[in-house]
Amino acid sequence: MRRRIVAGNWKMNGSKDLAKELVGYVRSETGSLDNGVEVVIIPPALYIGDVLSQARGDLAVGVQNIAQWESGAYTGEIAPAMAKDAGCRYVLVGHSERRQIFGETDEMVARKVSLAVASDLTAIVCVGESLEEREAGQAEAVVARQVRSGLISVTQYSEWQNVVVAYEPVWAIGTGKTATAEDAQTMHASIRSVLKDMGAPADEVSVLYGGSVKADNASALFAEPDIDGGLIGGASLIAEDFVSICRSL
Ligand code: PGA
Repeated sequence: MRRRIVAGNWKMNGSKDLAKELVGYVRSETGSLDNGVEVVIIPPALYIGDVLSQARGDLAVGVQNIAQWESGAYTGEIAPAMAKDAGCRYVLVGHSERRQIFGETDEMVARKVSLAVASDLTAIVCVGESLEEREAGQAEAVVARQVRSGLISVTQYSEWQNVVVAYEPVWAIGTGKTATAEDAQTMHASIRSVLKDMGAPADEVSVLYGGSVKADNASALFAEPDIDGGLIGGASLIAEDFVSICRSL
């Protein structure tokens, strides 16, 4: 009933060669998977065309960020409708690197989600607490606030179909530290209850886990009932590891 997704966020890594080799391999290795996984590749925007031509419709492609405006004089930005027009089906919104390095606020996240959904892109909305927030016992409250404010504009059933939440504890991103499957499950269940409280069709909204997911820890995480897949950074750049994670779902 919920989409099961493994999405590879290349961040600011990759090249035309990687797009050709890795995507061709992932396409051939995951084409026959019968676990119902939707595989999404999210490269730097300049390589979206290269990835799309290798993906040939069998893999979905996403963009790492969109503007908070529809069009106009915003040098360097990518409009949501352009991402759709270029062939993307997904967009990452509110990744912790965007929040921390580029000062993205909950309000900006909300505007981007609203525009993404209006452009018929599926927004993968990233939420997650810092280490200090976890140690202070505020993890669930912080994540609940991010979910509520980031998704404030989403009200219609058809809009919720274009929303995926990714729980990515900031302390687990690129650090080699992963939340235990049990801790991740607890947070995912909490996110689902916040969604329910917001009036969302919570049992139909996919909630992905991200943060140092690797070939050897993916199965344990994906076995949890409220974890519907993963958002993969570093390991998505290694073709065999990424395929192995897709097989683990
Ligand atoms: P990581 O990144 O898998 O390298 O920890 C995850 C992410 O930032 O989406």
